[in-house]
Amino acid sequence: MARTPIIAGNWKMNLNHIEALGLVQKLAFALQDKGYDKTKSEAVVIPPFTDLRTVQTLVEGDRLPIAYGAQDLSEHDAGAYTGEVSADMLVKLGCSYVIVGHSERRQYHAETDEIVNAKALKALSKGLTPIICVGESLEVRKAGKHVEHTVAQVKGALAGIAAEQAASLVIAYEPVWAIGTGEVATPEDAQEVCGAIRSALADLYDGPTAESVRIQYGGSVKPGSVAAIMAKPDIDGALVGGASLKAEDFAAIVRFY
Ligand code: PEP
Repeated sequence: MARTPIIAGNWKMNLNHIEALGLVQKLAFALQDKGYDKTKSEAVVIPPFTDLRTVQTLVEGDRLPIAYGAQDLSEHDAGAYTGEVSADMLVKLGCSYVIVGHSERRQYHAETDEIVNAKALKALSKGLTPIICVGESLEVRKAGKHVEHTVAQVKGALAGIAAEQAASLVIAYEPVWAIGTGEVATPEDAQEVCGAIRSALADLYDGPTAESVRIQYGGSVKPGSVAAIMAKPDIDGALVGGASLKAEDFAAIVRFY
């Protein structure tokens, strides 16, 4: 089954809502300029929560060919959870995607595989597509345990998720040592782990489900490095941090083909 590559830009804690307006407008122009074809890759922006209403207004008002989502969500529906944002709120803002289990959430907010699993289940139950982030630290890679570590994270995140729901998932393999460091995994290293993730999905579910899940690579992806990564058979997109803050660079990554 053909998988449409998905290129998502995680803005992290950058850009206020006025700046978000500027970046999305520039991105739309840059994509048009480069002959962006949304059947060949899907462009997604993931701004901070405070920018989502602005992005919604712009994307819906101008019918821009850009999807958007949030960087996190609460595993709870509603109530006394100060500072949290619910899946329903994101749906109301027109989000299609939500990042779950980014390594910065795991590291600074102690998110465990159980929490990641609860968030993924919540997102799916509300019609949001989770982008589930997994990946090993440098220490784990040096110990040669990167595949088993990452596959275990995938299995933990997917507990209780049925095959029909799993088929629409996006999984982002992001080796922690490559995030924001300028150090990119080689295409072969990225393929090794993404291939192992797909095999694990086939074991957990079945072949067709595994074939329909989109697996991204993330970690210092730039316009010059994206094509070689995307040429690998089990890599269906990129989760992009730093380079997603520059419209021209992000458009060039989206238009990798
Ligand atoms: C990320 O934050 O998911 C990421 C991959 O960041 P960067 O592209 O800056 O390494």
